[in-house]
Amino acid sequence: MGMRDANAWFADLGGGTRVALVVAGSFRSDAGVLLGHVPRTRWYPLVEQEIDDQNRLRQALNCLLVETPAGRVLIETGIGQRLDEKASRIRGVEGRPILDAMRAAGFDPLTVDFVALSHLHFDHAGGLLDRDGRRAFARARIVAQRAEWKIAFDDNPRVVAGYDQAELRLVQRIAEADAVDGERELLPGVSLIATGGHTAGHQAIVVRGRSGTVGFFGDLCMRPWSAEPTWLPSFDDFPLRSVEAKRELFSRAADERWRIALSHEPVRPIGRLEREGTAFRYVAD
Ligand SMILES: [Zn+2]
Repeated sequence: MGMRDANAWFADLGGGTRVALVVAGSFRSDAGVLLGHVPRTRWYPLVEQEIDDQNRLRQALNCLLVETPAGRVLIETGIGQRLDEKASRIRGVEGRPILDAMRAAGFDPLTVDFVALSHLHFDHAGGLLDRDGRRAFARARIVAQRAEWKIAFDDNPRVVAGYDQAELRLVQRIAEADAVDGERELLPGVSLIATGGHTAGHQAIVVRGRSGTVGFFGDLCMRPWSAEPTWLPSFDDFPLRSVEAKRELFSRAADERWRIALSHEPVRPIGRLEREGTAFRYVAD
């Protein structure tokens, strides 16, 4: 396939660093689960237009491709192509998986040097393998937190439900050696920040260029309403830590005018955070 110059870049951060949004399709999640402890009377008006007849919302699988002079980083991989038809139907999977979405945007998956994952839930790590179980990004090192690899194989049924352990075992051997602990500069300008909260080993990824910064906060900031630090999905394993991590990250993002990309927002996934009293507000681009 000829590689045209992709026009999918949404942020040129200067100095040869730029960021593109690549949407790897979508799936569906129960709306109440996404809004956790928030009373229905407060969240329902926000999603009334988009809720389906099974009380579900469509969740985009937003991935970022980051180009720097030192290499290319793909952030997240979506669900991938390894679910059988029944599982795919139950989860409401639609649209192009990551490999097809990248090629359609003019990006060759073989040019990816690192795949950075916010965490290893099935809707983020599912695209690490191709349909046949081979590495989807043959040259890439796979970078998640060591704590995340550890929790992913726990036998607690709540943990088991969030991870596709059989699939992760297939990539564990090639990926675990590149696991990181805490904060790490993956490439000049591309930093991983351990956050915990959503999962034990959840991390944020921050891309800094000469003229701007893009933050990706994984499932700590999946939809516009996530700007309220206390609004968490009910599957956050460590909710108090989520609130702390969100306040820390969101403060920096608001004060330093970062652009942010939301992990599951289907309509307006790129924007900024602004302070609003003691909380924050998401303002889409
Ligand atoms: Zn997710």
